[in-house]
Amino acid sequence: MAYPPRECPECRGIFTPLDQRQLFCSVEHRTAWSNRATVRGRVLTLYAMAARQTREGTRGDKATGKRAAQIRNGLMQRYRDEDREAGRMDAVRFAALRIKHGFEPI
Ligand SMILES: [Zn+2]
Repeated sequence: MAYPPRECPECRGIFTPLDQRQLFCSVEHRTAWSNRATVRGRVLTLYAMAARQTREGTRGDKATGKRAAQIRNGLMQRYRDEDREAGRMDAVRFAALRIKHGFEPI
């Protein structure tokens, strides 16, 4: 059974998936995407959580929360710019792709 062609988030090439849950055209592109997401997540998660837990620096340790939010926003801007420069799929489209194909966390 053939699945409809789809776009690889890493290279934006169109490929025919071998199963419904295949999101990348190749193991190399899946690994590249995953490794980059792991590195980004390790850095970003701490600041995103601190910003959220202080409601963007309006609760609790406001100074740390505000700075955490600035750092988080700067990192996300950098990641977006890097993805655009490299021709990769943006985060909104990738999230939509994952949700569509049943990859929601938890
Ligand atoms: Zn690819």
